[in-house]
Amino acid sequence: MSSVADHVHWRNRAACAGLDTQLFFPSQGESISEAKEICASCPVRVECADYALASGQRFGIWGGTTERDRRRERGRRRSAAASKLESVA
Ligand code: SF4
Repeated sequence: MSSVADHVHWRNRAACAGLDTQLFFPSQGESISEAKEICASCPVRVECADYALASGQRFGIWGGTTERDRRRERGRRRSAAASKLESVA
């Protein structure tokens, strides 16, 4: 997992550099398909998604993930961590 401090390094290789940020932060009801398509071919997709999780980004498309995807992943990780703690207790 990349740390928040690594953000600047991978961001320089982002496929979305120079694009309209509105694509990645659409208003309710606006399409996210173009942003997800750009993310799908981005060389730093994994770093971007990890950054969004690590820094608690609540809005926008990061690494091809939506807010809902990240909420679900945070819940999955919390459950996995809790199970791990229970297994060693
Ligand atoms: S994965 Fe998507 S949002 Fe993240 S840097 Fe790449 S193009 Fe931008």
